[in-house]
Amino acid sequence: MDCIFCKIANKEIPSDIVFENEKVIAFRDINPVAPVHILVIPKAHVESVQALEGEDYNLLPDIFKAIKEIAVKEGIDKSGYRVISNSGKDGGQEVFHLHFHILGGENIGKLRCK
Ligand code: AMP
Repeated sequence: MDCIFCKIANKEIPSDIVFENEKVIAFRDINPVAPVHILVIPKAHVESVQALEGEDYNLLPDIFKAIKEIAVKEGIDKSGYRVISNSGKDGGQEVFHLHFHILGGENIGKLRCK
């Protein structure tokens, strides 16, 4: 499967990894729209929120635990941050491997969706 985030998870292409465990990996967005812009992904390929089914749902607690841990590491746990997952064409999804954007490090405002 030709998926750029699978390649990042498999270390076939380089990325700035900030967190990794057995199921989840997180790395800095290559085109950041905030001082802290990190993408959190399951290592297993799931296309999007809308594509979640069966066992895939078991990935979500691990993803949200990772998000909290990363927020502390990045020093934005107290100032706050936004978590976004774009799903499908009208959601603005460009990479079809489930991912959660963490945006922080400044006041994100209401309209910035990634
Ligand atoms: P989305 O529009 O929600 O699918 O977001 C995809 C994100 O992946 C965009 O913010 C891109 O800047 C980011 N991105 C694409 N390729 C890479 C890469 N090789 N390393 C890090 N981030 C990437």
